[in-house]
Amino acid sequence: MLKSYNTAFKLVRHMATSASKSPKLTDVFIVGGGPAGLGLATGIKTSSKLKHLNTVLVDGGDIKGKVAPFYDNPPDFYTNRVVSVTHPTREFIEDKLGATLRKDRIMSYDGICVTDGVSKGLIDMERPGMAWMVEILNVQSSLLNRINQLKPSGFNLLDKTKVVDIKYSDPEDASSWILVSLDNGETYKTRLLIGADGFNSRVKTFSGILSQGWFYNKSAVVATMKLDMEPLKIRGWQRFLPTGPIAHLPLPGDNATLVWSTTNELAKLLTSIPVEQFTELVNAAFVLEDVDMKYYYNQLMNGKMTTTELKEDVQFRTNQILASLSDESMADDIYPPPITDVLDHTRAKFPLKLFHADTYCQERIALLGDAAHATHPLAGQGLNMGLCDTDALVRALESATDRGLDVGSLFALEPFWSERYPINCKLLSLADNCHKIYSNTFPPIVGMRTLGANIINQIGPIKDYISGTLSYSGKY
Ligand SMILES: Cc1cc2nc3c(=O)[nH]c(=O)nc-3n(C[C@H](O)[C@H](O)[C@H](O)COP(=O)(O)OP(=O)(O)OC[C@H]3O[C@@H](n4cnc5c(N)ncnc54)[C@H](O)[C@@H]3O)c2cc1C
Repeated sequence: MLKSYNTAFKLVRHMATSASKSPKLTDVFIVGGGPAGLGLATGIKTSSKLKHLNTVLVDGGDIKGKVAPFYDNPPDFYTNRVVSVTHPTREFIEDKLGATLRKDRIMSYDGICVTDGVSKGLIDMERPGMAWMVEILNVQSSLLNRINQLKPSGFNLLDKTKVVDIKYSDPEDASSWILVSLDNGETYKTRLLIGADGFNSRVKTFSGILSQGWFYNKSAVVATMKLDMEPLKIRGWQRFLPTGPIAHLPLPGDNATLVWSTTNELAKLLTSIPVEQFTELVNAAFVLEDVDMKYYYNQLMNGKMTTTELKEDVQFRTNQILASLSDESMADDIYPPPITDVLDHTRAKFPLKLFHADTYCQERIALLGDAAHATHPLAGQGLNMGLCDTDALVRALESATDRGLDVGSLFALEPFWSERYPINCKLLSLADNCHKIYSNTFPPIVGMRTLGANIINQIGPIKDYISGTLSYSGKY
C-alpha cells in the first residue's frame, strides 16, 4: 500500500516537474550501474578522446550507499555474487581503465576438474592462473573508486533513481535525440542512450530490438561455503548432474563459492531446507551417485529424514565410495575439499536463461552486457562478455570521435556490434551445447560423451587449448 502510494507520488511529481522544466542535455546517458554500465562510464572518463563527453549514469539501486563502500570497508564474509573473471576482462578493468580490484578479496585458480555425475568421464585441466574468482561488488566498487579518483568533469551519477519513460524528442524522427524521464522528476535529452540495465532492459524494450532465446526452467543456487582448511591446490570443480552442473570455486583462505544449477523445484528445496542439510547435500552431490541424490531429495521433500539421519547416510555412502578407490589419495584429485558450513544468508537462487539480442545498436541506442545477452553460468562468461562488449564500445566511440562522427549515430556504433556479436554467439552456444550434452541421460549419449571426455583428458594439447580458450574467453 505504502509502496504504491510512493510510486504514485513519484509519478505525479515527475509529471508536474517535467511539464515545467526543460530537459537537461547530455552526450551519453547510461541506464544501469552494474559492471557493464560502470565500466562504460569509467571508459569514457578515462579516455583522452572521450572524456569531454557529458555523461550521466542512472541506477535504481543504492550505488553510493551500498556498492561504493565495499572498496574501503568490505563485509567480513564473502558475498554470494561471485564471478570467474578471465584475462581480457581483468586487463580491461585494470590496465585500460586503471581501476584496481581489491586483491585480498580475489582468488586466482589453477585449473578446473570437470566430472560427469552419471559416469566416470573426467577432464582435469591444470592451468596456472587460469582465471580469478571475484565478487561483483569488488568489480563495481573498484570502478567507482577509479571514477572518484579521476574527479571527472561532466559526469553525474544518479542512484536510487529509476527511468520511468523514454521517447524520441521528435516523435516523427527515430534519429532525433532521446528524452529520458526519471522518477525524481528530471528529464534528460541525450545524443546516445546506453541500455546497461540488465536482462529486463527498459532501453531494449523502447528500442524495439528483439531477442532470441529461452528460459531453461532451471535456477542457479548460489552460496558462500566454508572449508575445514585452506586447500593446497587452488582449483575449480564442476560436476555435471542430470539436473544441471554443480560448481565449487575457490575464494581466499578457507572459503569457497557455490553455483548449483538445478530444476526450479529442487532449487526451492535447496534454499528452504536447514543450512546443515544443505551443507550435506553439497558434499554428497560431488561424490555420490544420482540415485542417492534422488533418494535424499525425495526424503527431504516429504520431511522423512532428519539432519542427523542425512548426515550419517551421506557419511556412510561416501565412505563406501572412497573405500572403492584403488588409491585413497585419488580422492583429492577428483573430489573438491568437503565443506563444513554454508553462510545461511548467502543462499539465493537465480532463474537461468539463454537470450541474445538480434542487434546491439540502432540510431542513438546501444545495448551492453546482460541487456544484450544472457547465458547459462556453467562456462562463467556473462560478465566477461559484458565487459569485453564495453571495451569494444569504448574503442568504437574513440574511432568515431577521431573521424568526427556523431557518437550517437549508427555509423559510430556499428563497429562495436559487428565485433562483439559473432564472439558472443560462439560463447552463448558453447554454454548451451555443454548444458544440452550433459543434461542427457540416454545411455549411448552418456557413453559417447564419457569416451570423448576421457580421450580429451589424455591429450595434453587439446586440454591446454580448452583451458586456454576459457582463460582468455570473452574476447575471442
Ligand atoms: C549464478 C550466476 C553465476 C554467474 N557466474 C558468472 C561467472 O562466473 N562469470 C561471468 O562472467 N559471469 C557470471 N554470471 C553473469 C554475470 O553475473 C552477469 O552477466 C553480470 O553481472 C551482468 O552485468 P550487467 O552490468 O550487464 O547487468 P546487471 O548487473 O544486471 O546491472 C543492471 C543494472 O541496471 C539497473 N537498472 C535496471 N533497470 C533500471 C531502470 N529502469 N532504471 C535504473 N536502473 C535500472 C539495475 O539496478 C542494475 O544495477 C553469473 C550469473 C549468475 C546468475
